[in-house]
Amino acid sequence: MFFPILDIILKLSIEKKLKMTKRTSLPRLYLLAFLLLLGSHTHSYGQKNSKSTPNFVIIFADDLGYGDLGTYGHPTIRTPHLDRMAYEGQKWTNFYVGASVCTPSRAALLTGRLPIRNGMSSSKSRVLFPNSKNGLPANEVTLAEQLKKAGYSTACIGKWHLGHKEQYLPTNNGFDYYFGIPYSNDMDHVGKGNYKKLAKGGQKSIIKEDYNVPLLRNTEVIERPANQNTITRRYSDEAVSFIKENKDKPFFVYLAHNLPHIPLFASKDFLGKSKRGLYGDVLEEIDNGVGKIIAALKDEGLAENTIVVFTSDNGPWLPFKTHGGSAGLLRAGKGSTWEGGMREPGIFWGPGKIKPGVISDLGSTMDLFTTFSNMAGIPVPDDRVVDGVDLSPTLLEHGASPRESILYYRQNELYAVRLGDFKAHFITNGVYGQFGKKEIHNPPILYNLSEDPSEQFDIAEDHPEVLTKINELVAAHKSKLIKGKDMLAERE
Ligand code: MG
Repeated sequence: MFFPILDIILKLSIEKKLKMTKRTSLPRLYLLAFLLLLGSHTHSYGQKNSKSTPNFVIIFADDLGYGDLGTYGHPTIRTPHLDRMAYEGQKWTNFYVGASVCTPSRAALLTGRLPIRNGMSSSKSRVLFPNSKNGLPANEVTLAEQLKKAGYSTACIGKWHLGHKEQYLPTNNGFDYYFGIPYSNDMDHVGKGNYKKLAKGGQKSIIKEDYNVPLLRNTEVIERPANQNTITRRYSDEAVSFIKENKDKPFFVYLAHNLPHIPLFASKDFLGKSKRGLYGDVLEEIDNGVGKIIAALKDEGLAENTIVVFTSDNGPWLPFKTHGGSAGLLRAGKGSTWEGGMREPGIFWGPGKIKPGVISDLGSTMDLFTTFSNMAGIPVPDDRVVDGVDLSPTLLEHGASPRESILYYRQNELYAVRLGDFKAHFITNGVYGQFGKKEIHNPPILYNLSEDPSEQFDIAEDHPEVLTKINELVAAHKSKLIKGKDMLAERE
């Protein structure tokens, strides 16, 4: 029975190739239509699940901590859309950024490389400022430039912070479209209101005019000072518009909110609504925007073929009392190489692709570069070291993550290394007036982060074999490391 059917299919496919004439009999036409229908179903099923090129949306918060979302345990901030994304997709509990402050962390995400390799970290300056001369080097390949090779439409919406001069802006780094504030929302300080007084218990009355930051569309300043009261809503709305306008081709949206970086602003509909105060208002507005983006993807029939990621650039900025976020059970925050500085929420949503679950394997924002390049069928550059690995086996099938280690750089010094469950601190240092002074540890301090996520109990004496392995990893890394030219230090 089997072979005659094969024979018919073969004959019909040959006939199809020869362009069948009108003389083809009616029963044969029915059979052909049936087989073609069967074929097209099989084909579209395969496309949806493995072959077609997915859309990517990365939503990147600023200074949001590991403990700030409902799904990561915050008791009063309401984040129902992010919680649902985590429930329907994957919630990663050991997901890291490439650096604990804005500029190098963003460079790491977009290039898949440690910032020390491309000069986006510096021994002299932690981030770029409005009077900085430079930005991301032109020879770096961004994720947007990668995806352009496969015909993606690309948009950067929000905070850039990889150089504000025209040659460094998103539109010169692979993005078709840019709408946003090109650096941190606390720069260009001109007014009397100053969030720095919050650290001493003082001034809370900050208005948008206190920070004269520009808002750009592509390369043109369209508003200054940017109205930060409405900026979160406008960023989310821009993302929704871009998705709707580009629904017929593959797209990549990099939505990097300026908030909840201090100074905090929320629009009328959210102001005063959260039990967590202004910080909660801001997060609930960001969450609302996430809901709008997910709804747009569903409305346009794109949900099955889109992957949405939510994470943050670094941990919470802790000195500013209730205006800073929370790292939950993790130690310290922004600027440090303790876990609170560099471990972040990592949520992956994609109902047609991502296999739901809670993932405790290691992942990094740098891996998005490699993972999404591979999913789009674009080779990762082989003329440079790329630190990202492909997380697809974990995202799609719950396979083991190929990432085995995390390197914790602070500026241009390697402070700590995580290998599997273990983390060795070679150097520890306080930050923003908190958490002590710089100390070099020899032998290093060692924690088991699976058993001791808050980094409380030094077990170095019990595990010399682990320290040996970590030392070997460090030696191998340093022997091949070529530092990029410092792009952060020079000012005008
Ligand atoms: Mg930040």
